[in-house]
Amino acid sequence: MVEDINIQQLKASMRGAVLQPGESGYDEARKVYNAMIDKRPRLIARCEDVADVIYAVNFARENNLLVAIRGGGHNGGGLGICDDGLVIDLSHLNGVQVNPEKMTVRVEGGCTWGKVDHATHAFGLATPSGIISTTGVGGLTLGGGIGHLTRAYGLTIDNLLEADVVLADGSLVKASETTHEALFWAIRGGGGNFGVVTSFLFKLHPVSMDYGGPMMWELDQVKEVMQWWRDFILEAPEDLNGFFAFVQIPPVAPFPAEHYNKIVGGVVWCYTGDPEKVEQVFGPIRSMAPQPIVDLVGPIPHPALQSMFDPLYPPGHQWYWRADFVKEISDEAIDRHLEFARKLPTPQSTMHLYPVNGAAHELGKEATAWSYRDANWAQVIVGVDPDPANKEKITTWTKTYFDALHPYSAGGAYVNFMMEEGDERIRATYRDNYDRLAHIKYQYDPTNLFKVNQNIKPAVPA
Ligand SMILES: Cc1cc2nc3c(=O)[nH]c(=O)nc-3n(C[C@H](O)[C@H](O)[C@H](O)COP(=O)(O)OP(=O)(O)OC[C@H]3O[C@@H](n4cnc5c(N)ncnc54)[C@H](O)[C@@H]3O)c2cc1C
Repeated sequence: MVEDINIQQLKASMRGAVLQPGESGYDEARKVYNAMIDKRPRLIARCEDVADVIYAVNFARENNLLVAIRGGGHNGGGLGICDDGLVIDLSHLNGVQVNPEKMTVRVEGGCTWGKVDHATHAFGLATPSGIISTTGVGGLTLGGGIGHLTRAYGLTIDNLLEADVVLADGSLVKASETTHEALFWAIRGGGGNFGVVTSFLFKLHPVSMDYGGPMMWELDQVKEVMQWWRDFILEAPEDLNGFFAFVQIPPVAPFPAEHYNKIVGGVVWCYTGDPEKVEQVFGPIRSMAPQPIVDLVGPIPHPALQSMFDPLYPPGHQWYWRADFVKEISDEAIDRHLEFARKLPTPQSTMHLYPVNGAAHELGKEATAWSYRDANWAQVIVGVDPDPANKEKITTWTKTYFDALHPYSAGGAYVNFMMEEGDERIRATYRDNYDRLAHIKYQYDPTNLFKVNQNIKPAVPA
């Protein structure tokens, strides 16, 4: 039990608000993106600056409180919030500063990607992130970061230059290739296990106008399309990304009315290379035998592609997902995929296969904590629906689909696409990097203060 007098002291020391159950703003502040998650923290510390984060970390440690770190609040398993403990809410720590000369961007720990894209686009620059602009920079980066620029410029962590981290003992350190190197290695894939990142510094690239968008095919032609795409994307130029998805066509413009509500297979393309070569790159794609029924691929500003699917996936829906890394997609696996695509349980439910090859293969398995550099795809099966009454339906479909496809997978999963799978699955994901992560965890957080995450247990080095 945390004493009232101590809470008053925390309130007095912080610039930001400290919210308690029953107070105005508390219920709004405890909401996360996935409406399946309904947790009631004892306190929500809405940090306004680094000092607030330090006070909140010290308070949690001294009062033996469970701590959750909230970045963008997008985590599928709701790992940005907890029951009973203290939430370090970074949502007001959302500044972005672009340095066009150095081609870098400094981003505060609670920022969302839409703000970053907005700021960097003014200079014709971008860094790799995800495909929905409301996702948090914090969680996405610390888990790895997969998106439209993965094949061209690698994972988000491959573009991380340094990070400011408030550690479990309340000290602030800078982690980079030259200072706190072990910590820097660990936070590139090891999630929020090692401290609260108050600011990230990313490398930028000249990305401004993309040539991209979705192409979609009738389901009865998708076997052929998937076989073609699977081989094509392994050899495609690195400045071309194309992730595969099963979707139900939304009944809205710009989709053709005759195809509304059809379940289809699609590829979402993003080409960031020389605009003069668009025809050369897309010629073979467009002349591929089964013609798409929807082709919305064209010139598009990078932030527009980055936020294209935001309206389809607003916050407040029920989400349940399961993931795997994949090295090969066999014809047999494609047949199994199609079986479950035909049974898509709700209009927003989906399955994505993101390529994680190209520039993401430039680093080895041990270069960062992110171990699956030898995988070619990150697969995620997602049951989504606004209606809580459909919770069982989407969960069952996701689990059965996952069980059917898991035998074709590489073993582990992208941590940011995991929910509550537990220790064994976390170990399978970090493979040979797990022990090193556990030792670094012991060095920086020996009592496991930061455990509301895909948790790496501290271990004393032998
Ligand atoms: C609609 C949707 C689309 C997505 N698309 C993609 C995608 O395209 N690519 C991709 O790679 N992932 C994607 N994801 C997954 C996403 O990366 C994870 O859900 C991630 O955890 C979200 O980060 P967040 O900061 O928003 O989450 P939160 O729920 O706020 O936090 C999640 C975890 O991150 C940690 N954390 C967050 N910020 C910090 C910080 N500053 N310091 C320390 N720890 C921190 C916390 O420990 C917490 O456990 C998507 C998720 C959703 C819901």
